Amino acid sequence: MSRNVTILGAGLVGSLLSIILKKRGYEVSVYERRPDMRAANMSAGKSINLAMSARGWKALDLAGLRADMEPLAIPMYGRYLHQPDGQTAFQPYSRHNEAIYSVSRGELNRKLMTLAEQHGASIHFEHKCHGVDVANNVVQLSHNGADKTIQADLLFGADGAFSALRTSYTHMNRVNCDQHYLEYGYKELTILPGATGEWLMEKNALHIWPRGKYMMIALPNTDGTFTCTMFMPFEGEVSFAKLNTPEDVHHLFDTQFADAKALMPTLIEDFFTNPTASLITTHIAPWHYKDMSALIGDAAHAIVPFYGQGMNAGFEDCTVLADLIDTHGNDWATILNKYDTARKPNGDAVAALALTNFVEMRDKVADSRFLERKKIEKELGNRFPDRFISVYEMVSFSHIPYNTAIQCIQAQDKLLERIMNEGDFFVNLAQSSFCDSLTTWVNEYHAAVQQLDFGKNATG
Ligand SMILES: Cc1cc2nc3c(=O)[nH]c(=O)nc-3n(C[C@H](O)[C@H](O)[C@H](O)COP(=O)(O)OP(=O)(O)OC[C@H]3O[C@@H](n4cnc5c(N)ncnc54)[C@H](O)[C@@H]3O)c2cc1C
Repeated sequence: MSRNVTILGAGLVGSLLSIILKKRGYEVSVYERRPDMRAANMSAGKSINLAMSARGWKALDLAGLRADMEPLAIPMYGRYLHQPDGQTAFQPYSRHNEAIYSVSRGELNRKLMTLAEQHGASIHFEHKCHGVDVANNVVQLSHNGADKTIQADLLFGADGAFSALRTSYTHMNRVNCDQHYLEYGYKELTILPGATGEWLMEKNALHIWPRGKYMMIALPNTDGTFTCTMFMPFEGEVSFAKLNTPEDVHHLFDTQFADAKALMPTLIEDFFTNPTASLITTHIAPWHYKDMSALIGDAAHAIVPFYGQGMNAGFEDCTVLADLIDTHGNDWATILNKYDTARKPNGDAVAALALTNFVEMRDKVADSRFLERKKIEKELGNRFPDRFISVYEMVSFSHIPYNTAIQCIQAQDKLLERIMNEGDFFVNLAQSSFCDSLTTWVNEYHAAVQQLDFGKNATG
């Protein structure tokens, strides 16, 4: 017998989940705090665009949305580096010319909601959840100023980083949770198109201005604009707290982002109109309660955005859940238990990967040793395709579990250090003795990581 499913949140993950559940015969009701963004012509909040990679596309395949989204997605084949002196460099992401894709968050969310409704899910807008009596699955909502309670049969909290269901879990016994705010905030700014609507920087790249303790990135939009995001400490020598006047902002951009500033006629207006937002990482265990409720997406694992994986990870939660439903039918005690066991280590891993990548993006990408290492990784991938794949490629271009990718970091660091300690790699390749040693080292690396779980269809 099918169960009725209640989902909190019609964001990216809640909307996708409702499609997946409807396709499997469940009755689905979604309660969303905000008005319908399609009618209200509002944005979906947070960043205007996001980077979608392999895990995200796989979930869209499951929903049947790939064909709709593909024409709106702009491939980004690598990082386009902007130095303070105006010099630029392009670093490809993969050896096979693979890309991550810039997609409009609002457009994606609107399409997911519409498809969910077409499949028969009902979305109740302007219904804010205030809390859940977890033991009894009673959901407290408010709508138009009035309180309302719902008796949920099966409940999912897809209500984002500040999830009401997660908060309610924390009031139960033996629940571990923590949340950590980064001392950095972010602010969105805009690069405008040219006179005929053309992109004024390379369109097929993720632009990055690494400046050590802070950085700016820019992703292309289909209308010729780029959405820039400035990540900077809230306090300190160079910080949001020090940028109080138009002169302060002009000075920073003249000295650090001059090439971008020339393309940002609305810089001052954007800077003082757009909010400075916070970045949070959350952990919680368990992610579910009996056969009655579970957390999914940011509600289960809010992470910082530096690997471009938050939505991708939330979508992967959905594909894993779909697989479990297909295997275990209506046995929700088993499904939720296995979902929790499978996904929690991956949620923790992607949170840690995202924090690590912040240092890489704001600092290391401009470092010559780091750049050399990237070239060597690429060559190793070409020479030993069955034995070496870089962690970045595992995360962005494969379905290898995040938890496996993170466990490969140490072994890859050891391998690359060994190789780089021998001097110029590309010169050394001319010596057969070096090539023999290289094969031995790669084999040792491969043996060290081989016992890890690389997942089924890992590179599919
Ligand atoms: C600056 C920035 C850049 C990012 N870039 C990327 C990227 O490039 N790639 C990527 O994969 N990820 C990125 N992310 C992460 C991504 O935005 C999130 O992981 C993703 O939005 C999570 O989707 P979700 O549906 O779980 O949560 P959300 O998108 O937050 O949706 C939650 C929904 O629940 C609703 N809601 C909240 N509280 C309640 C309540 N109490 N009652 C009812 N409804 C409620 C909200 O209104 C919302 O509609 C980025 C995040 C930020 C902040």
